[in-house]
Amino acid sequence: MMRRVDRIQHSLSGSLVARQLGSRAFMLPRSSIVSRAQYSQAAAVAAPVPAEPFPPSNGLDEFWRKVPMWKDVSMEDFISWDWSKKNVVEHHRRSAPEKLKGILTSVIPDHVPLNRTASLLQSREEFIKDIFGGIEVSSMSLRIMPHVFSRINWQDPRHDPIFRQFIPLNSLMQPDHPKSELDSLHENDDSPVSNLVHRYPDKALFLPISVCPTYCLYCTRSYAVGADTSEVTKQQMKPTLKKWEAAFRYIEATPQITDIVVSGGDAYYLSPEQLAYIGERLIKIPNVKKFRIASKGLGVAPNRILDPNDQWSDALLWVHRLALKEGKRAALHTHINHPSEISWMTEQACRKLIEGGMTIRNQSVLLNGINDSAETISKLIRSLAEDLRINPYYVYQCDMVEKVEHLRTPLQSIIDIEAQLRGSIAGFDMPQFIVDLPQGGGKRLAGSYLSYDRNTGVSRFTAPAISGNDNGTKVNKVYEYYDPLPPTTAKMGHSG
Ligand code: SF4
Repeated sequence: MMRRVDRIQHSLSGSLVARQLGSRAFMLPRSSIVSRAQYSQAAAVAAPVPAEPFPPSNGLDEFWRKVPMWKDVSMEDFISWDWSKKNVVEHHRRSAPEKLKGILTSVIPDHVPLNRTASLLQSREEFIKDIFGGIEVSSMSLRIMPHVFSRINWQDPRHDPIFRQFIPLNSLMQPDHPKSELDSLHENDDSPVSNLVHRYPDKALFLPISVCPTYCLYCTRSYAVGADTSEVTKQQMKPTLKKWEAAFRYIEATPQITDIVVSGGDAYYLSPEQLAYIGERLIKIPNVKKFRIASKGLGVAPNRILDPNDQWSDALLWVHRLALKEGKRAALHTHINHPSEISWMTEQACRKLIEGGMTIRNQSVLLNGINDSAETISKLIRSLAEDLRINPYYVYQCDMVEKVEHLRTPLQSIIDIEAQLRGSIAGFDMPQFIVDLPQGGGKRLAGSYLSYDRNTGVSRFTAPAISGNDNGTKVNKVYEYYDPLPPTTAKMGHSG
């Protein structure tokens, strides 16, 4: 019988996360809660020699101190997950604007470059107005963890590859492509029960949570992830044990499903006990042979893995070891798009998990003006494979989601980047360059199109293995991907 003191307590308060994770409906059955002592023992066995005594001694870049409001924050505080949650930078429809305005005013200089040569400048006030204008029309609410917030180059935020992924600027937004959709992958069509997508014959996507530590502007699940925005009232995916169990029962009753992706939202916002519960529950399903846990945590808040007072990584390693013991495989899938997101904390966090035996794969999204060059993707792949020792698994074409037109690239870009890189990087470190087909065709190699008209920007694909959940209507279906339309002239000058 487990002692009460061993139970990991939720401590997320005053937020959407608290409302979702702290609700009574979400309490796990007591008999199923894995104890903190179990994680700790598992982690100790998995990684018997600590990578470094932590916090490490000297010489590490305390990069967060460049952010004026965090100039006095110690290494110990910055590593703390509790500190990160308390200092998350966020704004959503119901937030008072003053707090975010104050934070932005403290980090943005009097003027910021409007173009790449800095021959044109924009005042801080205008720039902040531009951000609030972007928030007004974005499909994602704004939330940024301190780690990733402090990786932004605030001297030139408009051209910073991190800023552009997470903070919207009205002046960069473009009208949606007429074929863009909020649920561009038609996940709802392939959802036999709530919080589960079953598209591929042997694989299902389990969505136990709909919140993330940091929200990406281009999120493919913007129809459900995060708080409502002025533009989008989110589809409810509130996690309850009842919904989780319905998903588990569907998986149990569908023996051809052998592979589960646990995503969301971001599994980083599952508590350690929830993570352990899900892992153990999946491992116990006989037909499930492997599963991946999807989290952007290594990029946006790697400090959590290093925080000696937090057990998420212990729970992850415990799940990994349990899976191995039962003849199954568990992996972590992370999501880093640009080398600038990788700090020494990311390296240390990866090291802890890799030395604990964890398999980690990365999935990037190709984004206009952020990472859409062979040089940047090459640097990213090398950093992932050689510094972090993780598998650079996928580079995705950006999905045709509403409000991300300015971030999409033509199909030709991803094809050209792959062509330029192949042969310059070891084959086993080369990612697959993928289009996730609109309307639920699933993932196809970007170069495997049936036809691609560069003039109209329309590419066509088939997906013979995809049956989905639609009683055969996908057989022989041709899926179309549309390149972004040329930018409207009124806004072209601002993208630099
Ligand atoms: S972390 Fe994943 S689920 Fe969350 S906003 Fe980003 S892309 Fe969407």
